[in-house]
Amino acid sequence: MIISPKIRGFICTTAHPEGCAQHVAEQIAVVEKRGFIENGPKRVLVIGSSTGYGLASRIAAAFGSKASTIGVFFERPGEIDRPATAGWYNTRAFENAATAAGLYARSFNGDAFSNSVKSEVIAAIKEDLGQVDLVVYSLASPRRTDPTSGEVYKSVLKPVGSSYTNKNLNTSTGVVNEITIEPAEGDDVEQTIAVMGGADWALWMDALLEAGVLADGVKTVAYSYIGPEVTWPIYKNGTIGRAKEDLENIQRALDLKLAPLHGKAWVSVNKALVTQASSAIPVVPLYISLLYQVMKAEGTHEDCIEQMDRLFRERLYNNSPQPDEHGRIRVDDWEMAPQVQALVDARWKEVTTENFTELGDFEGYQSSFLRLFGFGLRGVDYSADTDTSVGIPSIKG
Ligand code: NAD
Repeated sequence: MIISPKIRGFICTTAHPEGCAQHVAEQIAVVEKRGFIENGPKRVLVIGSSTGYGLASRIAAAFGSKASTIGVFFERPGEIDRPATAGWYNTRAFENAATAAGLYARSFNGDAFSNSVKSEVIAAIKEDLGQVDLVVYSLASPRRTDPTSGEVYKSVLKPVGSSYTNKNLNTSTGVVNEITIEPAEGDDVEQTIAVMGGADWALWMDALLEAGVLADGVKTVAYSYIGPEVTWPIYKNGTIGRAKEDLENIQRALDLKLAPLHGKAWVSVNKALVTQASSAIPVVPLYISLLYQVMKAEGTHEDCIEQMDRLFRERLYNNSPQPDEHGRIRVDDWEMAPQVQALVDARWKEVTTENFTELGDFEGYQSSFLRLFGFGLRGVDYSADTDTSVGIPSIKG
């Protein structure tokens, strides 16, 4: 079929296999150009490996330090007349490229929150790799089913305490208007913590530890975001921020558990970037558009792949993690640089629909968004009839 983007609000319901493959190839090229990561990870498990930061982590590990990788994700395969989700095509492309480079890659499509997926992955590690020396936890999900009680938790993106009004971007039209978001109520905070906090990361690490599949010196990393004050009511001090606090508490607990293995757990605070998860957060897309404009002009703009390459190459694997006072790695350092934030802040106050294309990088926002789904990539013939039902080599059936 001929596949074109179908955008509904903040999601695109189609994805292009060749475009996703090109997007993956471009990310691989970024890492390969930077050369081999000395002392990098060798046997890596990435939970949430099909898009965004998790995909970039898998690529950085495989193509930066020739790591064998196991990836876990939740994606929909394609049918004859219906494209798969982007993460499906990304993983197919990743596996093809890894195999061509002589690298082991195996993938699991299922609910990472479940006990059954954990067991399957542990069996695969035992069978194929023996142990892993890095576990990346990069899930972003709106809900989680508790593996013991069966309860379904739902995460919400709301301020805590009082309502929050600020500027907001309609990412389809470029209109800058105002949005008011009502505060969390009932058990919204607890539910969001149950989904996006550290509980499932802890369950994964406990299961891996108990199965004896964590190597001596193992590292594990999960991702967080802090951002500027203008977004704090909806992010850092909102329901999602409470979940990230929980993630940090779990990181400290995991550190103790991994000590006998000389292991270490990290939270890495990453840059705000256009991903499927971040485009759903109110206010953040406007901030990202202003940020991209400033960072591109400064020459410090990075995408997921540059962020993850820098995390591995300059922080996790060169004995220089440079933790902040709370023990977190900060690869959001260039985003949070005072001169960048001062400019973004000034533009935030000024920005209106009329001056938005001048002050913000709307074109950059929209093209980054489309690229997530494999659209707008150079060298792809979007008018060609394309097979939507292609598989992932390591996933049978
Ligand atoms: P994303 O939406 O691109 O990726 C989410 C991944 O989780 C995908 O691989 C998806 O398949 C997988 N997933 C979701 N539910 C699953 C389930 N039940 N079972 C198995 N896999 C499942 O998101 P992202 O933006 O890359 O976010 C990853 C992490 O990075 C999150 O913790 C997020 O908070 C953090 N982060 C994001 C940003 C940003 O700006 N995007 C910034 C800093 C930190």
